Amino acid sequence: MSGQLQIRRLVKSFGGVQAIKGIDLTFAQGELIGLIGPNGSGKTTLLNIIGGYYNATSGDVLLDGQRCDGKSPVQLARAGIGRSFQVTKVFKRLTLMENMLVGALAVPGTSRKAAEERARAVLETLLLTRLADQPASSLSGGQAKLLEFGRIMMLSPRVVLLDEPFGGVHPDLKRFMYDKIREWNASGVTIILVSHDMGSIFGLCRRVVALSYGEIIADGLPEAVKADPAVLEAYLGD
Ligand code: ADP
Repeated sequence: MSGQLQIRRLVKSFGGVQAIKGIDLTFAQGELIGLIGPNGSGKTTLLNIIGGYYNATSGDVLLDGQRCDGKSPVQLARAGIGRSFQVTKVFKRLTLMENMLVGALAVPGTSRKAAEERARAVLETLLLTRLADQPASSLSGGQAKLLEFGRIMMLSPRVVLLDEPFGGVHPDLKRFMYDKIREWNASGVTIILVSHDMGSIFGLCRRVVALSYGEIIADGLPEAVKADPAVLEAYLGD
């Protein structure tokens, strides 16, 4: 398993607006990177391109040296790129177990028994076992985010993109999510974390990349990025 992500001269335009203006970035396998920047700086657009939800206008993204462009989110998920959403995407009327199996069973050659075993093991690590047969509508917002983590884990990703995973989550559950993110990362998964919650970003990540108007304005250790004049200026008035 590897999980190196390379972004080369990436540009994304929406009509006349250039949301990403020629970004170069390399994430080594096993890095845990915080992606910050004021509203509208291009964070979600970048995740959407890496996850295959948007096509880039130009430039490319490579996962372990393989070009990702033109692949759908489902193809990329199977290739090893997992993605969570700001607004959680779980199937509310399905049970937790059914939610866990949706993506996994769609992978050719997966047996139901093996998928269920894996789902049980993952639900166990997320402390959701006792809710496995409940509909996902019974979950709190934070638990739904945990279930989304679980669904991503089912496909054994090499790279995970987390978009605002802590929004509206109770502090206790947030700490539990930190532990899960750290465990995931310790097992070698490359993680890119977008969050407005600076405490979480600076507490979890050893590398922070700051965007402003679609460009990288700082990239390095959290302490250095936090004190960078360009970053302080970008956040003024945000
Ligand atoms: P962030 O996640 O940092 O808040 P976004 O990636 O959402 O920033 O947005 C970056 C820029 O791209 C903004 O100017 C935004 O208005 C624009 N943008 C994002 N998505 C779209 C879209 N689907 N259509 C048009 N413009 C978009």
